[in-house]
Amino acid sequence: MKTAQYVLTSILILCCSLFFKMGLAEAARTKFITIGTGGITGVYYPTGGAIARVVNKERTKYNIRCTVESTGGSVFNVNAIMSGDLEFGVVQSDRQYQAVHGLAEWQSKGAQQKLRAVFSIHPESVSLIAADDSDIKTIFDLKGKRVNIGNPGSGQRQNSIDALTNAGINFMRDIKAEQVKAAEAPGLLQDGRIDAFFYTVGHPSGAIKEATAGARKTHFVPIEDISGILKMYPYYAKSIIPIKLYPGASNTTDVNTFGVKATFVTSIDVPEDVVYAITREVFENFETFKKLHPAYEILTRKNMLDGLSAEIHPGAMKYYKEVGLK
Ligand code: GLU
Repeated sequence: MKTAQYVLTSILILCCSLFFKMGLAEAARTKFITIGTGGITGVYYPTGGAIARVVNKERTKYNIRCTVESTGGSVFNVNAIMSGDLEFGVVQSDRQYQAVHGLAEWQSKGAQQKLRAVFSIHPESVSLIAADDSDIKTIFDLKGKRVNIGNPGSGQRQNSIDALTNAGINFMRDIKAEQVKAAEAPGLLQDGRIDAFFYTVGHPSGAIKEATAGARKTHFVPIEDISGILKMYPYYAKSIIPIKLYPGASNTTDVNTFGVKATFVTSIDVPEDVVYAITREVFENFETFKKLHPAYEILTRKNMLDGLSAEIHPGAMKYYKEVGLK
């Protein structure tokens, strides 16, 4: 009797430890990856969420657990991916170009050779929002005004400087430049602490809805006469902000400006199977993915390969070759 009890207990202990070890092995095999985005009222943050959602749905198939982090934006994301703090990030196409070529914020650090492209996403417009009572009708009226150009680490900071420079405005001398995160700007505008702010973002965005829906009436300021910067920089293109997306704004017609594309990037150090899995899930669930944000309306599988200046990661390339996109 005692022997039988002993044998049973031993079998039980053996099974428990086996299951425990299997559980540990399972957990050890799970790859945790983080996507760097932007402020939570931008479009990058829900974009990271949309990608994580289609990937995490297949958690048991790939053993990948994807999480999303709110960050300071494009420049922060490139640097965090290069240092290995993040595996993926959403980054403006102009910032991708500059990082690859060692320009702008990367001038002293040099070309970011490990940066790899995965795909591009929604278009982003350089958006300038001003209070109606601040007398800002054109970009030239920004002179002497308090304007948020964007935090260091954001993608938009350089776009604001380029737009101002193109209008003959020195951002250090001719305006009172604030450099806070885009998520804080609508509140500052509504409180009367700034007159206007720039934000390079997809539309519609929560931040701009917030800025145009408050008690202080606001409007978009068109950014025109941009042939100079279009000629000078290969990554800028004309763009239009559809005013119907912001019923609270005082504008009555769509707004001319210029813009870039949001892109999804990683590092060559991120394993091929991980990048393959993410690319595959986004493209295989394309119709579901497209419905996750209105800014994705114009996306096609084909145009998601436009606007990339870094080399395409081998994991993504493997998928594009399989389905004939490359
Ligand atoms: N384009 C912005 C940046 O790169 C972020 C926009 C967003 O979060 O949607 O910093």
